[in-house]
Amino acid sequence: MTYDSDNIFAKILRGEIPSKKIFENEVALAFHDINPMAPVHVLVIPKGAYVSHDDFSANASQNEKSGFTEAVGEVAKITGLAQSAGGQGYRLITNSGPEANQEVPHYHVHVIGGRNLGVMVGKI
Ligand code: AMP
Repeated sequence: MTYDSDNIFAKILRGEIPSKKIFENEVALAFHDINPMAPVHVLVIPKGAYVSHDDFSANASQNEKSGFTEAVGEVAKITGLAQSAGGQGYRLITNSGPEANQEVPHYHVHVIGGRNLGVMVGKI
């Protein structure tokens, strides 16, 4: 899938649409999801143009990969979800492609928590 630079997260990165930022580093941006599924629901996105985890994994630089991973860890701490920050834990989700119901075609990781999140995924 080719990257569509008109997607909503690309617009957030360009400052064309506002977001509720909670963390930023050289390669990643984290902001609150507009439609939270739990008391804490934050999205972490790379600043580079990647569609999915497999695109990011195959094509991002080592600096982007390490900085992105660190950003996710920082968000888990900043939000107080991480057990290392006194919290009760969190779940990371990344949806890639149609069967995962990916809505926004810019790679992102959901950091979700603040309540018991139940089963990982519903069975058929
Ligand atoms: P996904 O289905 O994994 O692609 O998830 C996309 C997520 O982006 C959803 O949870 C939406 O609520 C969220 N979202 C869409 N537009 C915005 C926006 N402008 N600001 C913050 N989150 C958004």
